[in-house]
Amino acid sequence: MIQHKDLDDPQTREVIVVGGGIAGLSAAIYLGRAQRDTLIIDSGHSMAKWEPVVENYLGFPRGVGGEELLKNGEQQAKHHEVRFVQDEIQTVSSKKSVFVLKGKKKIYRTKRLLLATGIFHLPPEIPGVKECLGHSMFFCKDCDGYRVRGKRIAIIGSNNEAVEYALGMLHYSACVIVATNDRKPGWDKRHARWLAEYEIPVERKRITDVDHRRRKIRALDFAGGTCVKIDYIFTTRGDIFHTGLAEKLRAKLDSDGQIKVDQCMRTSVPGLYAAGCVTPANCQMIIAAGQGAAAAQAINRDLFEESLATHSLRRFREVQLADEKTVPENVSSAARRKKKRR
Ligand SMILES: Cc1cc2nc3c(=O)[nH]c(=O)nc-3n(C[C@H](O)[C@H](O)[C@H](O)COP(=O)(O)OP(=O)(O)OC[C@H]3O[C@@H](n4cnc5c(N)ncnc54)[C@H](O)[C@@H]3O)c2cc1C
Repeated sequence: MIQHKDLDDPQTREVIVVGGGIAGLSAAIYLGRAQRDTLIIDSGHSMAKWEPVVENYLGFPRGVGGEELLKNGEQQAKHHEVRFVQDEIQTVSSKKSVFVLKGKKKIYRTKRLLLATGIFHLPPEIPGVKECLGHSMFFCKDCDGYRVRGKRIAIIGSNNEAVEYALGMLHYSACVIVATNDRKPGWDKRHARWLAEYEIPVERKRITDVDHRRRKIRALDFAGGTCVKIDYIFTTRGDIFHTGLAEKLRAKLDSDGQIKVDQCMRTSVPGLYAAGCVTPANCQMIIAAGQGAAAAQAINRDLFEESLATHSLRRFREVQLADEKTVPENVSSAARRKKKRR
């Protein structure tokens, strides 16, 4: 059976997805199943790899490893003929409605471009903490609050967000402190009042070490010799949004630096879409997957409309009419009755 992509310029893909994390893979599965010629280009640093047991993704009552989710997603997309390349796109430009992407290894061209490049959560600047990432050091209370119920929790941070994190964590544990790690508190008066009203202890000294064994935090050591028993830490140091490619194409960003999108994940640049944590959506796997699917559907619809406008669908139909059976056979009613009786 002939496919639409068979008639296209082989040098230019219908769709390229930059980013093979949760959003990119979800989009690729939809695009592959829509018979779109799709390439995923990925540099291999999905944040999902940091989560050993994802407990809030639909359909996995006992949880699923982030790596496993990615592996399965890749397999599923490959099953629908999506191609994969490991590369890092360094720059992008657009010429006559074609995006030209320059990777470390190669140059790629595409009619539609989906950026699913994600973000990077900044870990706290504390010695010894990196080994505990995703095991006893977390960034997100929606992802990990539930699993630390009843434990001793330190929120590392010195801004309003840190205070709100501490207040939010009270649902999960009575034992919550804020540690500013030698930073001057930057929270406003209202947040300071809340800290006092809810009697949340604040430790302002520098954290000199994180005592941990087998990735499990046991205590925080503070300058001056105090040691506080802590089981889990959450940090609110901020994120780096991977928006460089969007900025090159002059896509609009919001005031937090995330790529602005409409409900169908279209950016302000025609033909350019974005999905996942690089957009203003809450940074959750299931949301990233949903956004990837929404972007793919919009891309598919836009390419379909373009094929009507440019008559490329008509050219495709001409090949079908020439080479394939296009009218269902007529079966006489007598033959049908005979078949039924048998
Ligand atoms: C420690 C930790 C625990 C978490 N736990 C949970 C949890 O339990 N539940 C939950 O829902 N969420 C959790 N998250 C959040 C989850 O990981 C993200 O929501 C999800 O990975 C976002 O998907 P994404 O596709 O937007 O980005 P990612 O999955 O991060 O994928 C982005 C991809 O783009 C690639 N990329 C970026 N720039 C380029 C480029 N220029 N060229 C080529 N490739 C590029 C990257 O290499 C990466 O593979 C956790 C995050 C962390 C850090």
